[in-house]
Amino acid sequence: MQSSVFTTKRFLAGEVFPFPDAPIERGVVTVIEGEVTAISELAASDPSIPLHDLGDVALFPAPLNLHTHLLFSGRAIPVGEAGSSFPSWLAEVGKVQAAHTTPPEKRFREGHKQAQNSDAALVADFCPDPEWALDLSTAQPPLFAFHELIAPTLARTEGVLESVKTFLGQYVACDEEDALPWRRYGLAPHALYSTTTELLEGSVELAKEYDLPLAIHLAESPEERECLAAGTGPLAEFLRSFVPDWSPQPSGEADTYLPALELLAQAPRVLLIHANYLNANELDFLAQHREKFGIVHCPYSHRWFGYDRFPLEAVLERGIPVALGTDSPASGGVLEMTENIRLLRRERPGIPLVELLRMATTTAAQLLGLDVANPFGSHYDGAFGRLQIGQRCSLVTTPRLP
Ligand SMILES: [Zn+2]
Repeated sequence: MQSSVFTTKRFLAGEVFPFPDAPIERGVVTVIEGEVTAISELAASDPSIPLHDLGDVALFPAPLNLHTHLLFSGRAIPVGEAGSSFPSWLAEVGKVQAAHTTPPEKRFREGHKQAQNSDAALVADFCPDPEWALDLSTAQPPLFAFHELIAPTLARTEGVLESVKTFLGQYVACDEEDALPWRRYGLAPHALYSTTTELLEGSVELAKEYDLPLAIHLAESPEERECLAAGTGPLAEFLRSFVPDWSPQPSGEADTYLPALELLAQAPRVLLIHANYLNANELDFLAQHREKFGIVHCPYSHRWFGYDRFPLEAVLERGIPVALGTDSPASGGVLEMTENIRLLRRERPGIPLVELLRMATTTAAQLLGLDVANPFGSHYDGAFGRLQIGQRCSLVTTPRLP
């Protein structure tokens, strides 16, 4: 539900979630000429304003989708079979990509069109070329471009880091109007198996220098752990089919993500995408550095691969921030955020709905530094992930879940 500048109504819902405040049963959001002017119980709302009863629904700020690959989203169908192993899925994706005749930028735009039809207030994308995102800088939903960096060899590392420096040099020095795009920019070293330690170190240094968030796929599959720890298994074999002398980085002498997490903890903020297979020690480390780290869980994609149950309760108990993403339809992702929340609600009846909604809204916005008023200056009217008086914001409803 996008309230237009002409909307003047009281919206009554079974439950209103005015994040960051507590939920209100039978709550009313009063909107005058498109601006939220009051959030209250029905009895306390202004009876002179027309009442629109939305029914027994939850009403909350539009969620943020913290992980997509719009390049792979234009064809909204999975690649390969559900339950595929991660390495065999990667091989299938490689074949599909190689067979494409449409230029990647056009496919990226098609992916953004898919996102336009979703309920996301913002989409954080792993984008191989951030210029593509700049071309869509005024489009809805806004994009947060994580510049995807892949360099499994030292020979490729320097060129990749140079491309980041060139981009930053071009936009960081601009005035406020032109600087807009890079405020929605972060670095995404793709994964530990597809980057060198030098690329990771260079990314962390640049993130520190320019105060940028980092994002990285981490501990997604059981094959990844084996590949990094021992340099063996199907993922390592897949990588060596492209890079014959590929070896695990960093060192790979032990079955632990701790050295990589220690390095990443030096960056200002880090989104760990998936983090499905971290052990208790590694989760403890994240808890100790919870002001730096957040985990992005992608419910539909997770289920499509048939991964072990994501340790959501263990993560939440430790106070580690969790946001939600969809990943791409190529891995079974469903771009509608509300559907992901509903799946999670069915899978985790013990976690209150308010917690799940908070992950997808306020926590997600905080992780990107977008939970403040007017994060994009004159280009956007309100903070993301909040529902507050004075805002012009997109709201989403979903039938209430038990
Ligand atoms: Zn991904």
